[in-house]
Amino acid sequence: METTTTKKDWVNIGFLMLTPLIAVFGTAAWTLAHGFEWWMLGLALVMYFLVGLSITAGYHRLFSHKAYEASRATEAFFAVFGALAAQNSILQWSSSHRIHHRYVDRDWDPYNIKRGFWWAHILWIFYKNPGNGKYENAKDLLKNPVVMWQHRWHNVLMIVAGFGLPALVGVYFGDWVAGLLWGGFLRVAAVHHSTFFVNSLAHTLGAPSFDARSSARDNPFVALLTFGEGYHSFHHRFPSDFRNGIHWYHWDPSKWLIRGLQAAGQAWELRRVAAPTIEQARMEAAMETLAPRLDVASRDRAEEIRQRVAAAREKFARAVELWRRQAEERAEGLSKSWRQTRREARQALADARRDWKHAVSMLTAVPAHA
Ligand SMILES: [Zn+2]
Ligand SMILES: [Zn+2]
Repeated sequence: METTTTKKDWVNIGFLMLTPLIAVFGTAAWTLAHGFEWWMLGLALVMYFLVGLSITAGYHRLFSHKAYEASRATEAFFAVFGALAAQNSILQWSSSHRIHHRYVDRDWDPYNIKRGFWWAHILWIFYKNPGNGKYENAKDLLKNPVVMWQHRWHNVLMIVAGFGLPALVGVYFGDWVAGLLWGGFLRVAAVHHSTFFVNSLAHTLGAPSFDARSSARDNPFVALLTFGEGYHSFHHRFPSDFRNGIHWYHWDPSKWLIRGLQAAGQAWELRRVAAPTIEQARMEAAMETLAPRLDVASRDRAEEIRQRVAAAREKFARAVELWRRQAEERAEGLSKSWRQTRREARQALADARRDWKHAVSMLTAVPAHA
């Protein structure tokens, strides 16, 4: 597999340069000359949400990662509205995204952050992608009729519906140009850059909470811009989890949409990683970051910390095992015993966490340098 080509993609370059210019200057000039009405902002926002969520909950979590299963109607909705984002077909998008996960931060990663912020954000799209047209890593998608239909009609959908639909809404309100600008150009540029921020900002700013060796970062501010995709360290560590923000208070509208679809009977088999496994990963990532301090600590201190960490590791392993058993018992319908096992698992997790916090506070008390 080639890693990169130097062949420029002039269609992409033209589209990605012109749309934001028209979005900003065109919309401003037209609105100043013809007046602002609230339906314009409403149209842009509604389309921003429908299209943006079709990328995050659809292209990304459903099609690329199979984090849950969905009805054909849901797949078709994401396929149509996702096409309006002008980010290529599901097949193409998911195939490059799977390569990104597999080779993150290395040469084969199409939006490798090591090549710079702007490369990961947008410049990579200015070149012909060497992987185009192969899809060896997307055999499942090649068999999906919705995906293949969308792949065939992508450009038509993108242009006719992406720009025609908002212009039609504009006709209804008496200004088709305003509809085209607000719901078409401004919305396309906004969804583009919010998606691009996941590849640039979420690989630059924030905490490497779940994997200290990867460039992926957890960042609540980025999550706000990207429908929840800013919890990117978690996502890279556990890509098949349907959540990116794991706590209820994490801003993750994509996760809420998926839960809503489940409640409506349109989504099922939502995959989630067991709580103790998540905590264990968090501990190992923090350990990786703090480990250099062990060399600076006094011998006795270092020994004490090591023992604490070892104890925490043992308890985490026990919690993971109990959690697994609880899930098995639950699946078998042993209602009394799975509740008891779950209680034990939670207790083991709480104990592990306590030992771990203790070790961390001892470690952070050690100066970073001698
Ligand atoms: Zn990433
Ligand atoms: Zn992903």
